[in-house]
Amino acid sequence: MKALEGRRAFITGSFQGIGFGIAQAFAREGAAIILHGLANPETVASAEKRVLSAGAASVESYTSDLRDPDATQSMIEEILSRGAVDILCNNAGIQHTAPTSEMPRSKWEDITAINLSSYFDTMRLLLPQMQDRGYGRVINIASVHGLVASVAKAPYVAAKHGVIGLTRVAALEYAAVGTRESGGVTVNAICPGWVETALIEPQIQAKVDLNNGDRAAGIADLLSEKQPSRRMATPEDIGALALFLTSHAAHNITGAAIPVDGGWTSQ
Ligand code: NAD
Repeated sequence: MKALEGRRAFITGSFQGIGFGIAQAFAREGAAIILHGLANPETVASAEKRVLSAGAASVESYTSDLRDPDATQSMIEEILSRGAVDILCNNAGIQHTAPTSEMPRSKWEDITAINLSSYFDTMRLLLPQMQDRGYGRVINIASVHGLVASVAKAPYVAAKHGVIGLTRVAALEYAAVGTRESGGVTVNAICPGWVETALIEPQIQAKVDLNNGDRAAGIADLLSEKQPSRRMATPEDIGALALFLTSHAAHNITGAAIPVDGGWTSQ
């Protein structure tokens, strides 16, 4: 029997990047997968096909904009009308870099809405039904920027620090739910350093430009500033950790903020 047979997992922002890597990891273990994100019908169809061929029991897709809390509520109600959700992975996020004095207020609004408030919305709506069944997993994709700061990322760093606070509060509120056998309800944050996805492409491109168009040199330059391993993580690496957090063996890991950062936050 595969590890996630009979489980249903909802991953926000999962048509690409880290969210897709997590969806693939869960699909390989036989979970029913709920994909989500802003995407055109071709991207949706292609992601659904790949998740099914990886082994998902079923796949559903939603494209609501997480900046709209009413739309999020309607989406969750529709998801719950089709069955319970065992695993919630809050992953959707955006980035915009600029010094604080030049950061457009609209970017503050969008980043805090998507990267923080949407995590609160999905958790408040989905945690109670996890409690009822004695098993549930919330995996919040935060960032090293939930643990430390960098310049020119005020809304992102504020939102990611907020995600870790939110994670800890929910972990405490649900810590005593369930038993060793049922698996309990845990709430954790994963804190990646650099992962090569569309989100960091503008930051990679800035370094490629400084290195005369040499992409490998640009990436090496970016990594050398902060990530001591000098290796990018992949969406698959993050998916493997998320998969472990869904296991019964992880029933006593809750309220953790787990870096996957090549030593970034050890400096
Ligand atoms: P990505 O740009 O590839 O994916 C982001 C996803 O979020 C997409 O599916 C997109 O459709 C979705 N999304 C964006 N705005 C949305 C909105 N308004 N409504 C609904 N969905 C929306 O980026 P990624 O690198 O895979 O990022 C995933 C998560 O990982 C983010 O929370 C990001 O902050 C975090 N993270 C990424 C890195 C990295 O180096 N890539 C490092 C640390 C943390």
